Amino acid sequence: MSDKQTRVAFLGLGIMGAPMAANLARAGFEVVAWNRTAEKAETLAASHEGVTVADSPAAAAAAGTVISMVPDSPEVEAVLLGDGGAVEGLPEGGLAIDMSTIAPSASRSIADGLSEKGIAFLDAPVTGSRPKAEDGTLTIMAGGPESAFERARPLFDAMGQLVVHAGPQGHGSMVKLINNTLAAVNAAALAEGLALARAAGLDTDRALEVVASGSGNSAMVALKAGPMLSGDLEPLFKLEHMLKDVRHCLAEARALGAGLSLAESAERLYTEAAEKGLGGSDFAAVIEAVDRPARARSRNSP
Ligand code: NAP
Repeated sequence: MSDKQTRVAFLGLGIMGAPMAANLARAGFEVVAWNRTAEKAETLAASHEGVTVADSPAAAAAAGTVISMVPDSPEVEAVLLGDGGAVEGLPEGGLAIDMSTIAPSASRSIADGLSEKGIAFLDAPVTGSRPKAEDGTLTIMAGGPESAFERARPLFDAMGQLVVHAGPQGHGSMVKLINNTLAAVNAAALAEGLALARAAGLDTDRALEVVASGSGNSAMVALKAGPMLSGDLEPLFKLEHMLKDVRHCLAEARALGAGLSLAESAERLYTEAAEKGLGGSDFAAVIEAVDRPARARSRNSP
């Protein structure tokens, strides 16, 4: 790697970004951190050697390589292409890597905006929530030119375990949307099953023991049944972000003429939970949208 590529700007230090940036610092990269709420960047710098704070994405981008990890395409566009955005500080030949989950069409349009300035771009979203971000075992799926992927590989290896070059621009984003829609549908089905188990008066621990050892098992059973039953909805992955991903996936499917009836049902449930004020809770809160009839029934029972 050249000197420049040992430095990397990290924009967006939320649930995922902060531990990912910390792993880059632990791996020996000089991390130039920027976050909309500056205290989070200062906290990261105070607790990790090799992290410094920049006062704008443009200032951070002098590092030559930029990673963004913010909610959706308007925020990615703002931090990369907006006023004071990374594009103002990236040198020609620089590299921008967006690891947020956004629409593939947005990834391609951002790539076009950057390529006009001679800057390479990868859409490289991740799967795995905060625990995997913390221990550097995320799965990373990248779309974009092979040469950019090879340049980014040392950074990816510091944050992830499985690193896949999914294909051309936008394919990382598309794989990610399909993955999350599968997870969203699966978690919604789990929530319905648990609500039914409660309505039937089952011992849910025993029911889950059976499900976990049989054909009803899934990653969602392992990760989300506990929070759904305990009501501990501290966000590892916010419900509003899951809803965003399902909506992006449905929009892509509609544009391609593909039917996603299960995803449409899931979207209704996540929307209902978000409308109850649970958008900032973990997406396990989808149970609040399916459990209502069960609770109504138990209130009416003698
Ligand atoms: P988060 O905790 O809500 O953090 C969002 C980050 O974006 C914060 O740093 C926030 O800054 C920043 N931000 C929000 N609006 C902004 C704006 N208008 N301009 C600039 N910065 C802005 O979200 P997260 O869970 O880390 O998720 C980030 C991305 O990763 C999303 O696309 C999500 O879908 C995806 N993802 C999340 C998970 C997960 O399990 N959490 C897993 C895989 C992928 P402030 O600190 O100022 O609010």
